[in-house]
This record gives sequence, structure tokens and C-alpha cells, in this order.
Amino acid sequence: MKITEEKLQEQELKAKFQDASQLGFGRIFTDRMFTMRYANNEWTEAKIEKYKNFTLDPSACVFHYSQEIFEGMKAYAAEDGRILLFRPEQNVRRMNNSAARLVMPTIPEEDMLQAIEELVLAEKNWIPRAAGTSMYIRPTMIATEAFLGVHPSAEYTFFVILSPVGAYYKGGFQPVKLYVEDTFVRAAVGGVGDIKTGGNYAASLMAGYRAQQKGFSQVLWLDAKERKYVEEVGAMNMFFVYGNKLVTPALSGSILPGITRASVLELAKHLGLTAEERTISIDEVIEDIATGAITEAFGSGTAAVISPVGSLTFKEKEYVINNNQVGPNTQHLYDTLVNIQYGRQEDPFGWVK
Ligand code: PMP
Repeated sequence: MKITEEKLQEQELKAKFQDASQLGFGRIFTDRMFTMRYANNEWTEAKIEKYKNFTLDPSACVFHYSQEIFEGMKAYAAEDGRILLFRPEQNVRRMNNSAARLVMPTIPEEDMLQAIEELVLAEKNWIPRAAGTSMYIRPTMIATEAFLGVHPSAEYTFFVILSPVGAYYKGGFQPVKLYVEDTFVRAAVGGVGDIKTGGNYAASLMAGYRAQQKGFSQVLWLDAKERKYVEEVGAMNMFFVYGNKLVTPALSGSILPGITRASVLELAKHLGLTAEERTISIDEVIEDIATGAITEAFGSGTAAVISPVGSLTFKEKEYVINNNQVGPNTQHLYDTLVNIQYGRQEDPFGWVK
């Protein structure tokens, strides 16, 4: 794919962050973005241009019926100067699955990958280097046709923006308290919970907000039909550790197939642990925490990589896991994944590119 690159003048460039240890998440964006338009059944005008506002018709489909999809991935600066992406082809594939589900046009995998790679290289000076920092990559597709009808848009914009982000764990690797949500649900089987579309996140806000007001970090989601089976945690996949065995909810159709989840499953086996994907009920989890059969629990996702869970609160009662301490398997999986992502450790899987 031919990507045109707009030359920016020195005075058009933004002032860079001064202190990478102060970077938060998702508020700072780089000088350039990738954009491409879809019209008349084809993708055109692939370009790396100045990061700037879009002009869209107020009737554009995306504003009314949420025909929108996105991805989340990161670029890491290795100590030897290499810039690494972690399993980017998986994000590209998932983006196209999301597109297909919302009757949006797919993008040839090699073109999407090229767009991401060329933009990251063009903006490589923005990748922070302090410990734990990285550059978050947000590929997005929006429906831009100006028409108030509930039908698939005939026009789209695909864009990629970049945000240098700080270390997720500034104050150390801390277990979080989860609220088991037994009223609101995130997604239902047959819906769109297994793809990355904005509406899923809008739907999750109320439960997350209420849980936070009660002093919890995240919501543990249950299934939509019976409020009985564990699905996900916030915007992460959920793992329970039974000694040397990991158990994670099987991909039910309403769970996002996380790339970190898939990596944890493969890595666990490589490290000599067993890993099971199956339905797991909240009653079973509560009992297994109470008896001590569950020795550790954690969430997995691109932002935090691994997020240790210290307790679950279900129907007003708190169940503490591993005395609210980070367990050895959680720590080991986290360290190994992060070391692979930053190129500090051999990558036996060929995950970093
Ligand atoms: N579940 C949801 C709902 C998410 O938004 C994410 C983040 N993409 C995940 C799980 C974890 O997926 P990944 O490991 O690919 O980041």
C-alpha cells in the first residue's frame, strides 16, 4: 500500500513530555496520525498526516448508531534501541473480525500492519524509555456517511493515533478489590461483547462508576443470562490460579478474546503450569476462595498486562485471596510477559516484531 507522508514544519511539532515518569494514560498524543478513507467500495488516501481534528457531518452514522470499532496495542522501546510490537498481527485480525461483525469493510491485514508500523516509526521519538512506559496505539474505524438511517454506512474513516503512556504500576504491583456485579451486564451471547466496539464500553460505565463509588477498582462481570458464570473483569480477561493450574472462562461469545489472555495460556503451558478454559460459576469461585483452593487471581489485558486481584465482594461479603498478596504465579507470568515485550528476555514464541 502506498502511504503518503505529510512533511511537518519544525514549528508545527508539539512540545514533548519532559518527564516520562509523570506520563499518565491516553491524554498526550503524538504529532502525526494515520488516516485512510473508504468510499465507493475501496480504501483510498492512505496517509500519515498531522494529528488534527476531524470535520464530520453531524448526521454521520457513528454519532447516532455507534458503528465504530477500535483496537489497543503498544510499542515498546527495548534497551538496545529496537522498537518492538507485541503480536500486532493478532490485533489486526481482531480488528477485521470486529469490522465484519458490524458490517464494516475489512482492511487487508498487511496494509493495516504497514499503516501501524510506518506511523510508529515516523513517531519513534515519542516512545518513552523510562521503566514500564510504552506507546499506546489506537487503530479506530468510524462510519462517516451523512445519513440518519439504521443501515451500514457506505463511507468510513480508518485512523491510527499514538499516545505515550506511563508505567501502569507506579506504586508497585498492587492487588485490586473487585465488586461482583450481579445486576448490570457487560455483554450477552449473540451480541457484540466478543468484538471491540465503543458501545460495549459505554454500556459498562454505570457499573464501573457505581463500583468505584463504593471503593472498588473494577467490576467482575457475570453472564447476561443467569448472572451465574464469571466472564471478565473491567476491560480485562479473568484468571483464577489453583496452585499450578490456571482456569479462565472459556470464550463464550460474550467475552473479548484477549491477546494477553491467549499469551498467558500459551506461556503458562511453556512454564510447566496447566491451563484450562471452561465455564466457571461465581458460586464455585467463592467456595474455592473460602477453602483456599484458589490460591491467586488476576486480570489480563494490554494496559496492565497482569493485574493481581486481592479480593472479590459478592452480595455484600468480601472474599480475600492469598491474604491480599501478589502470588508467585501471577508475579512470574507478569515478569516473563513484560520481559518478552521489552525484549529483555528470549521470546520462544516469536511474539515480538
Ligand atoms: N476484555 C475487554 C472487554 C477489553 O477491552 C480488553 C482490552 N482490549 C481485554 C479483555 C483484554 O484484551 P487484550 O489482552 O487483547 O488487551
